[in-house]
Amino acid sequence: MNSPGGHFHTPTHGSDRISISGLRAITIVGALPHEREIEQPLQIDLDLRVDLRDPGLTDELGDTVHYGLVADRVVAVVEESKDILLERLIARIADEALQFDRVEAVDVTLTKLRPPLAVDAVSTSVSISRTRAELSVPPHTVNRAFIALGSNLGDRAGYLSFAVEQLGNVVAQSQVYETAPVGGPEDQGPYLNMVVEIETSLDPFALLRRCQRIESEAMRQRTVRWGPRTLDVDIVFFGDVAIQSEELTIPHAHFAERRFVLAPLSDIAPDRCPDGWDTQLPADDIQALGQLGD
Ligand code: ATP
Ligand code: MG
Ligand code: MG
Repeated sequence: MNSPGGHFHTPTHGSDRISISGLRAITIVGALPHEREIEQPLQIDLDLRVDLRDPGLTDELGDTVHYGLVADRVVAVVEESKDILLERLIARIADEALQFDRVEAVDVTLTKLRPPLAVDAVSTSVSISRTRAELSVPPHTVNRAFIALGSNLGDRAGYLSFAVEQLGNVVAQSQVYETAPVGGPEDQGPYLNMVVEIETSLDPFALLRRCQRIESEAMRQRTVRWGPRTLDVDIVFFGDVAIQSEELTIPHAHFAERRFVLAPLSDIAPDRCPDGWDTQLPADDIQALGQLGD
């Protein structure tokens, strides 16, 4: 209970817990060839061990764990994952829940609702318990990344706002620029472009998947009739990381040739723009419109 001379809580208080059960998400998981191709439904059940004495007295949300946020973050981890093993994915779910300061320990059960078995079975699942001391990644490893956004169809500013909101932890936003399309079909309208800086605890590949999810949700939200260029979300820089893989090139392969990336980038990170870019690049038709939402 209380230590001599001070009022300290024991690490966890008895059986205090917040439970989230029956959380569903659809993702790629599993080792079989068809499981690498087709997404499958998973169920996540979480028991968060949180000392509930303080919020029990204060009635303050800040004294407890906002379980809606935990649920959102866990679903995002699952949807962005392409892990082979449930064992790997469940460890990452536990880590994500433990990123919330007041979560002292977590019990997780992860269930494949359509297990690929030749015999009849309702589901298969794995369960783990982890405490803060057993985190497999250090908490709050954050990187800064720059993301270029572009939209030339539909409610262009609305798509940019949607992307900014969905990226989360935006620490800087450039102005919005209107840019005549460079190349491409004749009937294309002008783009709105901007660059944002974010703080993220995702790795570069998980961030790419988040960008792709935001692009596809932007399309899903409105109408497919407008085609695929409603929203483009590209990673320009990820810290000082350099990646050359089939899926992902960082820094972005073409940023140094594109005024519609460099003009907004120079608003928030002029040191990241190549020397003399402004005079060396052809003068495209581009116009600053001020901050998003102004
Ligand atoms: P560009 O890359 O010339 O700007 P684009 O943005 O129109 O073209 P998309 O259709 O959005 O192209 O993406 C094509 C592929 O680019 C994606 O599937 C993704 O895997 C890959 N890619 C490589 N590097 C990056 C990056 N840094 N950011 C986003 N996507 C990237
Ligand atoms: Mg692009
Ligand atoms: Mg792109």
